[in-house]
Amino acid sequence: MFIDSLSVGENGHLYISGCDTVELAKEYGTPLYVMSEDKVREVCRRYVDSFKVNYQGNGLPIYASKAFSCKEIYKIVVDEGLDVEVVSGGELYTALQAGVSPAHIHFQGNNKSYQEIEMAIDNKVADIVIDNLSELARVQEISKDRDVVTSVSIRVKPGIDAHTHDLIRTGQIDSKFGVALENGDAFSMVEKITNLSHVTLTGLHCHIGSQIHEIEPFVLAAKVMLDFYADIYQKLDVTLKTLNLGGGFGIKYTQDDNTIPYEDYMKAVSKAVHAKCEQHSLVIPKIMIEPGRSVVGEAGITLYTVGDVKEIPEVRNYVAIDGGMFENPRYSLYKAEYTFVVANRAGESADYIASIAGKCCETDLLQEHTKIQKPHNGEILASLSTGAYNFAMASNYNRNPRPAVVVVTNGESRLAVRRETYEDIMARDL
Ligand SMILES: *Cc1c(COP(=O)(O)O)cnc(C)c1O
Repeated sequence: MFIDSLSVGENGHLYISGCDTVELAKEYGTPLYVMSEDKVREVCRRYVDSFKVNYQGNGLPIYASKAFSCKEIYKIVVDEGLDVEVVSGGELYTALQAGVSPAHIHFQGNNKSYQEIEMAIDNKVADIVIDNLSELARVQEISKDRDVVTSVSIRVKPGIDAHTHDLIRTGQIDSKFGVALENGDAFSMVEKITNLSHVTLTGLHCHIGSQIHEIEPFVLAAKVMLDFYADIYQKLDVTLKTLNLGGGFGIKYTQDDNTIPYEDYMKAVSKAVHAKCEQHSLVIPKIMIEPGRSVVGEAGITLYTVGDVKEIPEVRNYVAIDGGMFENPRYSLYKAEYTFVVANRAGESADYIASIAGKCCETDLLQEHTKIQKPHNGEILASLSTGAYNFAMASNYNRNPRPAVVVVTNGESRLAVRRETYEDIMARDL
């Protein structure tokens, strides 16, 4: 299998971290999210080790928890030495409930509410990533009220749009996140913060996109940001202590995805960081990255029970499953690619062309014209690399209960999030 935590057992079943997925489906029901703890920990260690190798430890991976947020994951990544990033009061609350020290929580988001900012400041999070001037004014006001000094960084648009693949440097100015470099907004915000009484600037932050399979945009972002650090130093005599280069590293959804080992990104960016700091005589800031998808994406699979198979000659074969856009909206949102495997017969050749149909009353497809083993009613179908932005994006559309999350490690499984019940769904109806 193209993901190393997955294998085919002697019984022909799909295994994840030593657990038989057909048995997991039987024990916990379907649809079911399964997360390999071993895989998550392995990725975390690779990031932590990369900081030792490339920055003598003067750096930090931060888990962007919007990819998959529940108590269990915060415990695992923090145990591996990562900080966590949250983008809402709900994620902050979950991280705090999971026991994450506020000193290891970074608060981000493009439209934080007054109440969310109060919550972040009252809980003394490590820093708040400021998105715009009016937010800055709110942070200053709330901090002044409480007579505290709040550490902040600034979300900067470095003018690199990795999504276009041709590094258009100005495209990114049209983004709802942060302040732009090229029109001077970022500089004037830095200047402004240096004059505020209850806010202190630790560094800058950028994030150039997601599911990126190229090194160059990351290197370019680091260079652009450090040129800006030099500018800030020369004009304002301000030395920024940290530089957060964001997340976005691509993962394998299919056999054909050409992923780059995380170590290669880290090495190339580190080279650029060291060269730029030398060129400008800058003290190397503490470098941070903020991966989300790559920490949890490949670790997760989703298990479904196959329902009816509708073969329409010369049109297509619909394979209906008990999940759908309520538990994975990514195909409906942007035709995201996934690999499906019939878990009962994972070793057999995948020569049946299927369109996987969810149960929501919409077109609701999870994949079209994809190759799987010929499925039968009642068998278990697995979707691979569903650890990121699936559980996190799930809804109750059609009043479907959201699936449970099971964590597997070394042949053992445990429930991390129980399945939603109809009572849960009704709980807020008065
Ligand atoms: C979404 C996001 C991330 C994580 O991106 P991935 O592609 O999941 O690695 C990191 N930082 C910020 C600011 C984000 O918005």
